[in-house]
Amino acid sequence: MRVARLFRTILGFARAVIESVAIAVDGPIEVAAKPRDRRPRCGGCGRKGRRLHGVKGKARQWRHLGMWGRRVIITATVHRVLCGRCGVRTMAVPWARAGSVFTREFENEVAWMLQRTDQTAVARYFKISWRAVGRIAQRVVAESLDGSRLDGLKFIGVDEINYGRPQKFLTIVVDHVSGRTVWAAPGKSAETLGLFFAELGPERSRAIEIVTMDMSGAYTKAVHDHAPQAEIVYDRFHVVQLLNAAVDEVRREAMRMGGDDEKRSLKSARWPLLKNPWNLTLKERQKLSDLQRNNRRLYRAYLLKESFQQIYDALSVAHAEELFSEWYDWAQRSALKPFRKFAATIKSYWPAVRRFLEVRLTNAIVEGTNSKVRMISHRAFGFHSAAALISMIYLNCSNIVIPFVGW
Ligand SMILES: [Zn+2]
Repeated sequence: MRVARLFRTILGFARAVIESVAIAVDGPIEVAAKPRDRRPRCGGCGRKGRRLHGVKGKARQWRHLGMWGRRVIITATVHRVLCGRCGVRTMAVPWARAGSVFTREFENEVAWMLQRTDQTAVARYFKISWRAVGRIAQRVVAESLDGSRLDGLKFIGVDEINYGRPQKFLTIVVDHVSGRTVWAAPGKSAETLGLFFAELGPERSRAIEIVTMDMSGAYTKAVHDHAPQAEIVYDRFHVVQLLNAAVDEVRREAMRMGGDDEKRSLKSARWPLLKNPWNLTLKERQKLSDLQRNNRRLYRAYLLKESFQQIYDALSVAHAEELFSEWYDWAQRSALKPFRKFAATIKSYWPAVRRFLEVRLTNAIVEGTNSKVRMISHRAFGFHSAAALISMIYLNCSNIVIPFVGW
């Protein structure tokens, strides 16, 4: 069997001819290939075009999956193509996505790994730059994002995600039924969410029944404008986020008033105060009992926070109503300004807060997506573009199945 034929079999590139193979003693395996189609295809749209004559082709390289510890490089001469739709473009090659210096299989493997580990690890494993990994994610997502993900949406959640320094924002939309992130875009205003509804179109917008969100009000207008029939529900995740912010405000206030020792002690009290009690370590529990003795204001804030959560665990909506009414009075008497403010906010939005208990949407999807996205974005001080972060989110939160062959 000739080496070129052997490699054609091993590589299994469709619609490609392997012309020669060069194996250096210590270097990479270089495979010279060319597309089988006599008429070149357009790199923009994939249609057959006409080769631009009088212009010499350019030698180009693509990195393929390694073989027996060696790098495998595909080389080919690419030409300019005149396409009826796109004009003059670089020709497409069947083994790689347009504009990439990696083969399709290589990119698929990178994307598969990105769904399972972080970007830095993936970059190191494949020995490619962090940004190259990001661009691969964008290309794979552009190709594999399910176009029907916006169909049949009824119960959706809207959330804002912050990332980067200086801080920037994304708006993401999750489908409560499938658990997928179905949409993401830069920004956090009513206009941003308006773009989602524009993409959805009037018919699919009219089918939306419930939109869960936080109480900041930014997204309310967009829902009223584009899906007026939809009911706005304030979900538990965002209410608790606000509740935790109130606890933290009391803590920071105490830090400002206290001496150096107290400052240090209160600094490390942040997580014990915010964590769920069943997740506390022994040390954190001790921290809380210290607070109980030494800082009664802050401990009261902690108790208020914990007892508010019981409203969500009530067995009936009527009971929840009762609990909230008691809790509201307690918060108002507490002399803790952040809690009086929180209680007033919840009271004014109470119908939409209570509604969450009635519709019994699970909190897990919004919460899970939120923490997953936060993890992606926190690891990503290097995300310069919203587009790169958005493709990482789609890759990890919208059930994209990567055609990865594996071993
Ligand atoms: Zn084209």
